[in-house]
Amino acid sequence: MNNSGTVVVAGGAGFLGSHLCRRLLADGHGVVCVDNMSTGRLSNVEDLTASRDFRLIHGDVVEPIDLHGDVEAVCHLASPASPQAYLAHPVETLLAGSAGTRHSLELARKKQACYLLASTSEVYGDPQIHPQPEHYWGHVNPIGPRSVYDEAKRFAEALTTAYLHTHGVDTKIARIFNTYGPGMRADDGRIVSTFIRQAMEGEPITVHGDGRQTRSLCYVEDTVEGLVRLLRSPHHGPVNIGNPRELSVRRIAEMIREVTGSRSSIVSLPRMVDDPQVRCPDIGLAFDILGWAPSTTLEQGLRITADHLAREPAPQLAAAATSQS
Ligand code: NAD
Repeated sequence: MNNSGTVVVAGGAGFLGSHLCRRLLADGHGVVCVDNMSTGRLSNVEDLTASRDFRLIHGDVVEPIDLHGDVEAVCHLASPASPQAYLAHPVETLLAGSAGTRHSLELARKKQACYLLASTSEVYGDPQIHPQPEHYWGHVNPIGPRSVYDEAKRFAEALTTAYLHTHGVDTKIARIFNTYGPGMRADDGRIVSTFIRQAMEGEPITVHGDGRQTRSLCYVEDTVEGLVRLLRSPHHGPVNIGNPRELSVRRIAEMIREVTGSRSSIVSLPRMVDDPQVRCPDIGLAFDILGWAPSTTLEQGLRITADHLAREPAPQLAAAATSQS
């Protein structure tokens, strides 16, 4: 991929997608954002709409995508992504991973564009190997509540690989681990946004289970840098993109309390079904082939995110649906 072609970002009005659109525009690309606005927000990309190089199309990747003109790359990020969203929309999630991946791959094939799939660490399920390297096949319950997301992404990886081998599409699979930063919805039920909101409102911070389950949190600009490097590389992946600093969920809650200067208590809720006990990427491959490693400390990233969320209107917290993802 060179520095001027048009990139289609499916799901570009979402949290991660909007940061990717902004980065691609800054690098000199034209960007076409295709989004059905199910979990995305116009406010995420409103500042970009003034640019002649940015086009926002209200569209659903579950239907075929028809675009005029040359396309250099297609990035498929369109999917409900927070547990709260995918548990509420199981069929839509499976379709975004199956039909959505098919249609975005078809677009790449017809335009002879390269293709990036935003896959996820959830393909490893509740892992039995730790940290998780790319060659680990995972431990996923195919009919559990989280399967709608996990299996959709596993199918998406299989279909992407089939397009590489069958149609010669230059595909890339990024296995993204938990990412946080400005632009997250305060009501999306993910731990960083939920804990920050609870801390800022002086409510109890709700940890599921005993809080000893671990997570590894990557700041969004670091994740986007990894995605762009993969897109520009000759590698097909899958490649883990995440931060290998692993902390217990309880420790993350404590850090957020410190960063926000909150006096909230930390309380336990029942453990979620199939909630992974550990989560930590092995990023050796990303370092070796992309020269990539995250550079933002958790303390820095949490401060920036908390400052940003403080400026958002207060949402209703859906604490009952909050997962430790
Ligand atoms: P998000 O919910 O903020 O963004 C997803 C975007 O896709 C939204 O704008 C939504 O409206 C759009 N969308 C959903 N279904 C669609 C459809 N059928 N057609 C068109 N648009 C559709 O989530 P996010 O955190 O930005 O995640 C983006 C992608 O990255 C997802 O594919 C997710 O699986 C992947 N990912 C994210 C993380 C993370 O920690 N944020 C981790 C692993 C993988």
